[in-house]
Amino acid sequence: MIRPNMHYADLKQSYLFYRIAQKTKAYSEANPEKHLYRMGIGDVSQPLCPAVISALHAAVEDQADADRFHGYMPECGAAFLREAIAAHYAERGVALAPDEVFVSSGASDELGDILDLFDRDSACLVIEPAYPAYVGANVMAGRRIVHLASGIEDGFLPAPDPKLEAELIYICSPNNPTGAVFSRLQLQSWVDWANARGAVILFDAAYEAFIEDETLPHSIFELPGARTCAIEICSLSKTAGFTGTRLGYTVIPKDLERHGMNFNGMWVSNRTTKTNGVSYIIQRGAAAVFTPEGQRQIRETISIYKNNARVLTEALDALGIWYTGGKNAPYIWLRCPGGMDSWEFFDRLLHEIQVVGTPGEGFGACGEGFFRFSTFGSPEETMEAANRLRRLLKNG
Ligand code: PLP
Repeated sequence: MIRPNMHYADLKQSYLFYRIAQKTKAYSEANPEKHLYRMGIGDVSQPLCPAVISALHAAVEDQADADRFHGYMPECGAAFLREAIAAHYAERGVALAPDEVFVSSGASDELGDILDLFDRDSACLVIEPAYPAYVGANVMAGRRIVHLASGIEDGFLPAPDPKLEAELIYICSPNNPTGAVFSRLQLQSWVDWANARGAVILFDAAYEAFIEDETLPHSIFELPGARTCAIEICSLSKTAGFTGTRLGYTVIPKDLERHGMNFNGMWVSNRTTKTNGVSYIIQRGAAAVFTPEGQRQIRETISIYKNNARVLTEALDALGIWYTGGKNAPYIWLRCPGGMDSWEFFDRLLHEIQVVGTPGEGFGACGEGFFRFSTFGSPEETMEAANRLRRLLKNG
């Protein structure tokens, strides 16, 4: 009889989002007249920008014309998009060859698929609180996970410890869920740690477009030494509203080698075996993001989310609630007031002001007592949620 991958039995039910859905469903069924203010979702509320829409339309027309029609696309990405992305990095002073950029259908796919490149006996370090997929993908692969807790003391930005025993490490900066961003110096210490041990950093840059403090690194490749120890995984989901359109990209420098194996070459083998590339139409839409017009337009959309962040953080400031994030990231991570635990606070917000957030405990044990607000909602809903929060908590 075929033996399943028994590691799937070790997966914890996607308990966080399942439990949120159960609780909100039960509340809505009991209170059908009440509108819910959803400040928990990681999905965007604003549409694609006009430059992307017109590129998508033009690409559809190409597919209707025998002379301009495209069939299978190159597995690692269309040259026009790989070049556009490399040129975008060059503007920030990061020199990449276009064939160091791999086009993907999103960061989630890559964060898990990339694990094919590493021995299953290697241990994986996850800095917590963390995006739950890091743990899930490694549990499925049967890999040992080393959990590194962070907290208020280190600003949710822990430093490497020479005693840490792991060969793979996920770093997410700006971070989901905490919104914390590693400084150049802090990130450099992880790069040095990885090079010294021969480890590889999987750098999740899904939220780099939200950085406004330009002393902070958008890309790990801005740091010396990163080309020999890092893979960067990026996404247009939050940068340009591609959550439903799907496009991401992954940077694997040609200098990244271990045991005589070159990871860039290995990923070419992986992609040419396991995918047939991303749709021509979507890649044309994505290329429009990297034009001057596209960049200007996505900035306008991001500024809507940044304004949401301001509305929420002003409410938290007025209430004297500790938080991090919100400035260089689309998430706000706050300490639950009055010593409440994450789920108690969740229930209180749901039942008393119909605001739905995300309990921090779902991102790792050290997230207990914290709570995440997303800034991706509509401005109207965010404003109302902030007002309700002020009214509820002003008297403790
Ligand atoms: N990485 C982080 C930290 C995320 O929060 C998300 C989505 O919420 C992703 C990756 C996935 O992005 P994508 O939509 O490109 O799959």
